[in-house]
Amino acid sequence: MDKTTRSLALPAGPRRFGFWLDGKWEGGREIFTRHSPAHDVPVTEIPRCTVEDLNAAVAAARRAFEDRRWSGLSGAERGGVLLRAAEILRARRDEIAYWEVLENGKPISQARAEIEGCIACFETGAGAARLLHGDSFNSLGDKLFGMVLREPVGVVGLITPWNFPFLILCERVPFILASGCTMVVKPSEVTSATTLILAEILAEAGLPAGVYNVVTGSGRVIGQALTEHPDVDMLSFTGSTAVGRSCVHAAADSNFKKLGLELGGKNPIVVFKDADLADAADAAAFGISFNTGQCCVSPSRLIVAREVAEEFETLLAAKMAKIRVGDPLDEATQVGAITTNAQNDTILSYIAKGQAEGARLVTGGDVIDLGAGQYIRPTLFSGVTPEMSIARDEIFGPVLSSFRFDTVEEAIALANDTVYGLAASVWSKDLDTALLATRRIRAGRFWVNTIMAGGPEMPLGGFKQSGWGREAGVYGVEEYTQVKSVHIELGKRNHWIG
Ligand code: NAD
Repeated sequence: MDKTTRSLALPAGPRRFGFWLDGKWEGGREIFTRHSPAHDVPVTEIPRCTVEDLNAAVAAARRAFEDRRWSGLSGAERGGVLLRAAEILRARRDEIAYWEVLENGKPISQARAEIEGCIACFETGAGAARLLHGDSFNSLGDKLFGMVLREPVGVVGLITPWNFPFLILCERVPFILASGCTMVVKPSEVTSATTLILAEILAEAGLPAGVYNVVTGSGRVIGQALTEHPDVDMLSFTGSTAVGRSCVHAAADSNFKKLGLELGGKNPIVVFKDADLADAADAAAFGISFNTGQCCVSPSRLIVAREVAEEFETLLAAKMAKIRVGDPLDEATQVGAITTNAQNDTILSYIAKGQAEGARLVTGGDVIDLGAGQYIRPTLFSGVTPEMSIARDEIFGPVLSSFRFDTVEEAIALANDTVYGLAASVWSKDLDTALLATRRIRAGRFWVNTIMAGGPEMPLGGFKQSGWGREAGVYGVEEYTQVKSVHIELGKRNHWIG
């Protein structure tokens, strides 16, 4: 591990936030204090909102939607606000990255790159706002003309997780705004700061009051109440499959609100014998360690051709051992702290289960003591078999399970042997093999000879139990609209009653 000097200081004391309701800060609620998971010091103080606060936020979003202060603007005007927000984000990039690090534990260099990605989301959303359009049917005969209008779905509830608090937010907010919807956001209770900072930025960019509201608090109370709210037209939930399931029940038991769900994954990385093994090893090491593996699209199942498996695992283990795990405020750090104590315990319990179930620990598996915070070394298990819990469960940590295959069919079957279908990466220089695997492996995000590449133009979302719907890009904007079929009769009506 590098012992480079930390380049950024910790804050002198915790930063106090209010919550954002109808274009104003609100305070005076019970506060909960978030400690930096990397440094064990208090960094933010966040209001614990009540269900009444949530109801007030939904009512504000409803008023803002019904009086058309946002949806009534042209796409160009909405896009203008999003572009101004992108500019302000650019100016405040380092500040937002800093608070993201303090609450989440991710490395500062990574956080800054994520904010760059967020700026791109706003720029893409701005373009999409102008380009959103419906359809027409000029094929219904001379007496009838058909139009398909796209209309914003209404008030959106947005619930986000703690692993990419700002990036996941920004992969949704500009596209929701581009559609003309208004919203109430409920960030994860441990990473609320940057969602609140965005409120200030959007207001400065010219977003009308009431269009973006943030209510902070626990998932059990505020999140649950948002999923059950009868005046929320659509809910976009990103988080665990278990809570996603409860959103489906809550929607069914309340008002059948439309749902977008981005849930868990147990993503395969398939390495065929003709792959560039050095490139694939680097990608696998990066994929499972990036954001400490607390990443829904991390490749957590390595499926490697038996002929090259030994060589590949050796290359991969050497790469993983070189990863710089350390203080996330250090510019040189590649992997920071685990975000919550509960997640730390979960990851360590799976490492213990892997060993107990007979998998071979190739590298990592231990914790790193930096005096404060919780750090786990990137871990590779070999000889994993499909029934082991490390083969089946989403661990959400830097733990990679390696399987071997003999035929392409076997590789595809292993890749699909999961209830999830979020992402997949395949490595082969043979076009036939790569395309066959791409067509047959069931996953919403797919990478060939690369991993976790992309941008906000491309849709995000999962197959199977990884979720419903798509976020980002034009697909993402369309998700927040509903279509209305309009039939226009031309000329005199043929009377039914003579
Ligand atoms: P989580 O499901 O525990 O929490 C996600 C959000 O839901 C938080 O804001 C939380 O407060 C809220 N919540 C908790 N209980 C709730 C309830 N009963 N009703 C409504 N809201 C509730 O997930 P997490 O631990 O924050 O994040 C990790 C999970 O998220 C992993 O399973 C990961 O795969 C998934 N994830 C998926 C994607 C994706 O794009 N598919 C992206 C990031 C994370």
